[in-house]
Amino acid sequence: MSIDGECATCGSGQEREFTGEIAIHFPGLKGLENPIVWVFPKVFVCPNCGLAKFQIPQEELRVLGETDPAGEGLTACPLPFAYQARQRQS
Ligand SMILES: [Zn+2]
Repeated sequence: MSIDGECATCGSGQEREFTGEIAIHFPGLKGLENPIVWVFPKVFVCPNCGLAKFQIPQEELRVLGETDPAGEGLTACPLPFAYQARQRQS
């Protein structure tokens, strides 16, 4: 992500930083059987072309990588991940 605010797509130089709350769902009907993965990243938005960028933290990235998108869940994760994420914030 650019530090100088320059958009990687249109090069406008107007990219701005926001805070985000993003729920990541697995695709397809079977994906609905997996828990939602919540992330709360800084989001960089270009007001010129609409490109939005954010980085997923390592723990949430691991869950996305290890969860079967066909709805089999994450075997190493005993609680729904969204529930765990809420617990960590309180
Ligand atoms: Zn742009």
